[in-house]
Amino acid sequence: MKQEIEKAEKLNTMGELAASIAHEVRNPLTVVKGFLQLMQQDDKDNNHPYIPLVLSELGRAEVIISDYLNFAKPEFKNLEDFSLSQVLSDVVMLLNALAVKQGVELKSDLKPALFLFTDRNQLKQAFVNIIKNAIEATPSGGTVTVSLALSGDQALITVADTGKGMTEEQLSRIGTLFYTTKDKGTGLGTTVSVRIIESMQGKVSFKSEVGKGTEVTLRLPIVQNVQISL
Ligand code: ADP
Ligand code: MG
Repeated sequence: MKQEIEKAEKLNTMGELAASIAHEVRNPLTVVKGFLQLMQQDDKDNNHPYIPLVLSELGRAEVIISDYLNFAKPEFKNLEDFSLSQVLSDVVMLLNALAVKQGVELKSDLKPALFLFTDRNQLKQAFVNIIKNAIEATPSGGTVTVSLALSGDQALITVADTGKGMTEEQLSRIGTLFYTTKDKGTGLGTTVSVRIIESMQGKVSFKSEVGKGTEVTLRLPIVQNVQISL
């Protein structure tokens, strides 16, 4: 127990340190990006063909930094009632381009009208990370299915893919900070998602079979008798 607490405290200090570094680094990065974009506009003759590459790597650095910031301090700023299926279909639409690029079919079945009261953007972030992983794990020709159902007083969201799956060992490590099997992975996405969902009194569980695919189940408490003015 004591060890657990010490571990949590250590992680917290680490998180705060990471957040302050991330925060400080973000400003100069934004300046560099701005000037590079200007250079790109001026470079009509394409004398500097590597600018798009530099910009794309800068974009990656930005994503990593915002993941870190979110990890250290998930901010629940705007609490509101909203439709869960709406948020899910927004995320599916957003990630459809990535799916198409990878030759993966992204399907969704989001019929029940369920409402949540929480920070919509944080929830979006959690779904983006999980669905992105599913797409990234699935080879061309495969499918990722996002579905929504009601289970008691909870919304049940499943993200199922026909991808490479995970071994027992990999499954036991998923969600731990910095665990990644990807060349350019950060190992932050799942940890951030689990943290967000758990701070919303929700739960995340993973089921997987090597070569068959993975199913991520997320449970979130819904708002009952919500009055929505349309
Ligand atoms: P990253 O995507 O940067 O590697 P994540 O925390 O999002 O970090 O994921 C950690 C690891 O968990 C991934 O590198 C991958 O090995 C594994 N993983 C996550 N989701 C899936 C999935 N749907 N199918 C197979 N492996 C997965
Ligand atoms: Mg990821």
